[in-house]
Amino acid sequence: MIQYKTKEEIEIMRISCLLVGKAHEAVIPFLKPGISTLKINELVETFILDQQAIPSFKNYHGFPYATCISMNDAVVHGFPGNYELKDGDILSLDIGVLKNGFHGDSAYTYAIGEIDNELKRLLKVTKESLYFGIEKARAGNRIGDISNAIQEHTEKKHGFGVVREMVGHGLGRKLHEDPQVPNYGKKGYGPKLKEGMVLAIEPMINLGVKDIFQSEDGWTVLTKDKKVSAHFEHDVCVTKTEPDVLSSFELIEEAEKKNINLSWSYN
Ligand code: MG
Ligand code: MG
Repeated sequence: MIQYKTKEEIEIMRISCLLVGKAHEAVIPFLKPGISTLKINELVETFILDQQAIPSFKNYHGFPYATCISMNDAVVHGFPGNYELKDGDILSLDIGVLKNGFHGDSAYTYAIGEIDNELKRLLKVTKESLYFGIEKARAGNRIGDISNAIQEHTEKKHGFGVVREMVGHGLGRKLHEDPQVPNYGKKGYGPKLKEGMVLAIEPMINLGVKDIFQSEDGWTVLTKDKKVSAHFEHDVCVTKTEPDVLSSFELIEEAEKKNINLSWSYN
């Protein structure tokens, strides 16, 4: 059942969603070769707890960490661990926070050091597709309009693989609410968008084939062809007029530009 939010609830949610961007911002200066993904997770977890919030992912259906850190051919749900970042790595960091009873959930993909042009194109196109999807998040449209916009840009226009098994979702008092928001689909199909719906829109796009498999840890989702995957996620409220993006990449993009160990010029 879709949970529609009141205007008051939306403003409470905005605090949670913006806090996720601040958690990203807090860890960005530390993203450089040599740092372990477990250390990145610790820094984010400490930041969230210091803000009197709770990391949404920790213990969610048994997930053991505060963040999902998915390196290179990992699509989503990667475990932080002893792996140390190195030049050329692609790191997808997904963060969720629970504050004042509502969740925020936002992912961003970082390029460590220099990366080749094909990877830059993957990151650019995946991020662009998120905004094409958001543009369709308007009352009267359908979920399929969002899905189709993402698929058209990434798969039809650029030939990347759109992951089918993992999808975006409603967001609110629960981390995952109805409806599902696939990154592929047909215009005019699916649940109708109404004022007060909050959607986590999150294209998960593979450089190569769309096929994935689950690793032996029971969580990490990997690409079948071992090629890189990218992931960007915003939380968006459907209103009577323009889509209201509750999360923000503004602080993330500013911090990214200040870190000489990250490639961001693809933007
Ligand atoms: Mg997420
Ligand atoms: Mg999500």
